[in-house]
Amino acid sequence: MALALEDLNPPQRQAVTTLEGPLLVLAGAGSGKTRVITYRVAYLLAHGVAPEGILAVSFTNKAAEEMRERVEKLVGAKAAARLTLSTFHALGLQILKAEKAALGFHSGFTVYDAADQLGCVRECLRHVKLDDRRFDAKAILFRISRAKNAFVSPEEFAATQQEGSARRRAADDNDEYDVITAAVYPRYQEALRGFHALDFDDLIVETVRLLERDPRVREKWGHRFRYVMVDEYQDTNKSQLMLVRHLVAEHGNLCVVGDDDQSIYGWRGAEAGNILDFEEHFPGARRITLDQNYRSTPTILAAANAVIRNNGRRHDKTLKAERPDLGLIQMVVVDEPDDEAKFVAEEIEVLAAQKGYALGDCAVLYRSNMQARNFEEVLRTQRIDFKMIGGQAFFERKEVKDVIAYLRAAIAPRDEIALRRVVNYPARGVGEATLERCAAYAASHKIPLGEALRAADSIEGVPGRGREALRGFLALLDGVRPALERGVDLAGAARALVEQSGIKDDLVSAGPTMMAAQRRLDNVEGFLRSLHNWEQRVRQAGGATGGNPLAEYLHRLTLSSNDDDEEEDEDRGKVTLVTLHGAKGLEFKVVFLVGLEEELLPHRRTINPTATDVVDRDGLKEGGGDGELAEERRLLYVGITRARERLYLSRCRTRGMRGEGRGTFGKPRAPSRFLAEIPESLLEVRDVRQSAGTAEEKQAVVDDCRAQLKALMGSWGEPEPGRKR
Ligand code: ATP
Ligand code: MG
Repeated sequence: MALALEDLNPPQRQAVTTLEGPLLVLAGAGSGKTRVITYRVAYLLAHGVAPEGILAVSFTNKAAEEMRERVEKLVGAKAAARLTLSTFHALGLQILKAEKAALGFHSGFTVYDAADQLGCVRECLRHVKLDDRRFDAKAILFRISRAKNAFVSPEEFAATQQEGSARRRAADDNDEYDVITAAVYPRYQEALRGFHALDFDDLIVETVRLLERDPRVREKWGHRFRYVMVDEYQDTNKSQLMLVRHLVAEHGNLCVVGDDDQSIYGWRGAEAGNILDFEEHFPGARRITLDQNYRSTPTILAAANAVIRNNGRRHDKTLKAERPDLGLIQMVVVDEPDDEAKFVAEEIEVLAAQKGYALGDCAVLYRSNMQARNFEEVLRTQRIDFKMIGGQAFFERKEVKDVIAYLRAAIAPRDEIALRRVVNYPARGVGEATLERCAAYAASHKIPLGEALRAADSIEGVPGRGREALRGFLALLDGVRPALERGVDLAGAARALVEQSGIKDDLVSAGPTMMAAQRRLDNVEGFLRSLHNWEQRVRQAGGATGGNPLAEYLHRLTLSSNDDDEEEDEDRGKVTLVTLHGAKGLEFKVVFLVGLEEELLPHRRTINPTATDVVDRDGLKEGGGDGELAEERRLLYVGITRARERLYLSRCRTRGMRGEGRGTFGKPRAPSRFLAEIPESLLEVRDVRQSAGTAEEKQAVVDDCRAQLKALMGSWGEPEPGRKR
């Protein structure tokens, strides 16, 4: 197979053809790092390496898929299908599934997503008798997750917690959360094991433990993957580094690419040191830098460089632009979020009609998921097709999760979180008291809750109505189980569950409007269709998934629920809505970066953190410190550098923040301090409210905006020092 190495510049070519030993490519955005990985994969294949021996890991499913598409273009779908192009989590899952016996889960395991994990934390909180709703389960889960990723066991966590307690109590109001986490963490781990479940963190942490303790397993996978590549290496954490180390221990053939300026997961435990100390972790490593940006116009690149320059202590990289310019960056000011969404929708229509852009060329990027709703609504009413990556993905919608929980309860009888979710949904008369009696019976007889439910008839204190309801519920699950286990007509069996359980009726009658009900029914239908498609695909592939097709499907869902992309082919003609975090590694011809306001970007929590601000995927790590502001700036840098041709920055004058009403009732908003870092000469200010006004009025607004930006520059002119590295 010939490979067009002339598509690469000299340093890229060097990176692609350096196959043996550790190699670091440290370079700025859009410089072709991912291209290096994809060409390297092709180059390896061209040099006779078997596709099975090649592993390339990326950060999100979306990014991994993009990598796969690019590789397919180079080597064809057939060879690409035999490669392992995956995320860290999917890789962990693959290894753990193959080694499930060594884990003690002979009949398989369930993977818990964030919602299941929170359910589990809440269960544990009840057991430690602290369900007074004073504690934020997310904040506890965040701490557990961080401890797990740092390989801190529940015992060690409790010990350090006690040790440091007195010292911290004086200084740190988060101490209370550490105390409660110390109580919940061991129970949480125990519960997961009891439910035959692994959470996202386990997928990596348990893989590392397994590789560590079992030389046979380590050798097997070390032999399997002879060439390992990692994209977005700046966002790896400690456990991911350990996983990589074990995999390449024998041969050392590791190529990582990344950009310290794009490290945006510090809040979740990513270690900037992984990329900056690569040469220490992997002695003898070579380093290559790339300095040509092929993605963005010079104007867009200049704005990105101007912003990131304000972070102290970074690898200074000067990127040269390659593309021709296509005009200034549009700085759009609107009154309120609705107007922002309307502006974006109208502009997309104009771009499509007049400039030949496809919907799929356009993306809306925001800091926080809650900003997405306005865009969803407006795009939907304007009939502009869109897809949302992350956020409340399709499979996380309540009605879809309910159906999934039924399926899980049917095939994984130990999965207590799923069981509890559906045992009395739709309401069938299994009251809280009944459930608690059964749970107590399960605990005292050391059996799973599912088995206790079957014994309800002989459990004291369970009322007749409860017993009857449980019989009906269990009969329903038993009725569909054979089909689900055989993996034949999965969608039919799931449909029977939806109808016989009463979910369908419940969705129809739940309101508030017929349209809302219809949307929920459509979502359930969409899920059934996706299940059907999966079954077809498995059948076409000769049933070769290596396990029960439904279990496989559910594993796959859990992993993709954070950035869902079902039916990818249909999605090409759709506008993308995605958070800045989710946009990493992607590129779009047209980017709308919205909500450039103080408290959104930089996020409120960086400016003014409170005790429970330890968090979810919008998140930030706890506490204050200058590091987080620098991380917010990197987020903006990531956002700006996604744009290839046209960039819009927008902000609202007022915004209704959480629970305070919307629209004109919102609070006045200050422009993001980062806007003042972009040279005025790169911006064209557009005031949407005034677009119908006179020329003088428009000018007055533009002047006003400039004055605001200038004032900002005055107050935030000093760059704050970046995180110490
Ligand atoms: P990021 O930091 O955002 O992940 P990256 O460094 O991975 O960016 P790529 O996505 O690999 O950059 O490349 C950016 C764009 O430039 C892509 O469209 C890619 O095809 C193109 N590109 C990269 N190298 C070259 C080259 N040598 N010639 C032409 N186009 C290139
Ligand atoms: Mg990339």
